[in-house]
Amino acid sequence: MLQAATSRSVDVFEKLEQVGEGTYGQVYMARNRLDGEIVALKKVRMDNEKEGFPITAIREIKILKTLDHKNVIKLKEIVTSKVRSPNKTSIYMVFEYMDHDLTGLADRPGIKFTVPQIKCYMKQLLTGLTYCHLNNILHRDIKGSNLLIDNQGVLKLADFGLARPCALENSKTLTNRVITLWYRPPELLLGTQTYGPAVDMWSAGCIFAELLYGKPILPVRDEVEQLDLIFKLCGSPVADEWPEYRELPWSKKYTKQKPFQRRTHEVFRRFPLSARNLIDGLLALNPRKRMTAKDALDSDYFWEEPMPCSPQDLPKYEPSHEFQTRKRRQVRFWCPWCLW
Ligand code: ADP
Ligand code: MG
Repeated sequence: MLQAATSRSVDVFEKLEQVGEGTYGQVYMARNRLDGEIVALKKVRMDNEKEGFPITAIREIKILKTLDHKNVIKLKEIVTSKVRSPNKTSIYMVFEYMDHDLTGLADRPGIKFTVPQIKCYMKQLLTGLTYCHLNNILHRDIKGSNLLIDNQGVLKLADFGLARPCALENSKTLTNRVITLWYRPPELLLGTQTYGPAVDMWSAGCIFAELLYGKPILPVRDEVEQLDLIFKLCGSPVADEWPEYRELPWSKKYTKQKPFQRRTHEVFRRFPLSARNLIDGLLALNPRKRMTAKDALDSDYFWEEPMPCSPQDLPKYEPSHEFQTRKRRQVRFWCPWCLW
């Protein structure tokens, strides 16, 4: 499946610079020695693998190979390093190179996105998600550092390390320990194991609110705080709105909470009604009532002035990846809208 026997050697590429370091491996900017093309090499981390090739990487490669869309990162090939012992072979995924990730770009000093720019990024994020969901793929780790942007302004979903095919509801159970905490929806925090594309839509709502607000809107330290903060912003779940809530495995733990009112329109009152309605639709507590990617694309926000700009009209920036900017960034765990 990985064509290790026939794959080219990583020596075809000259590593130029490290641009990423995540849970599963380093990412390098590299140049193809044959034609000069600039690519990204993502090393498959084999550290703890006694049992051969990591299953997570197999899943990531398999899924990437089935996807072909302008808003989804393109896997060009797999290359291997020539090491004598077969157990020590390094394997790299070769991707088209992208100049920025959204977190790295937003963290650049002095950056302030315009409204047409935010609309342009959101439209592309939602178009990529529509495509994945239509093809029954859940991404399960939508966040700024996994949204890559090139200097033509094209945004692509990347890092399919946690992605998997949608299990039909109530058939297979899935793990609820996915999605980076600040972008994780309430149903996962409450322990559901049957879920679908709505989990990615919650994360998209968090990204949208963050782009408008200029900082993450639900920054916390742990799962319990996360659910508290979600309920403070979105209101406590009520049976009318989300009848299935009571059946979720960990819902009993939260029964003694004093009820909160939904505050999205108050917290985001600086933004137009169409933006607040889109936040409301994406940050619906009940996943069944949450907007789909297609609904979101049809929302008034994208069809009223100022209209989204075209990717090629976006400003060009110096390369910026979270790996490089996070050293500058202070991670704060206090909520920017809770004090008032
Ligand atoms: P991880 O599982 O380690 O988070 P990612 O695929 O998200 O793996 O890669 C980590 C980081 O490397 C990204 O956040 C991004 O900054 C950078 N990166 C990943 N793919 C590319 C690419 N194709 N072009 C440029 N930078 C990339
Ligand atoms: Mg990542």
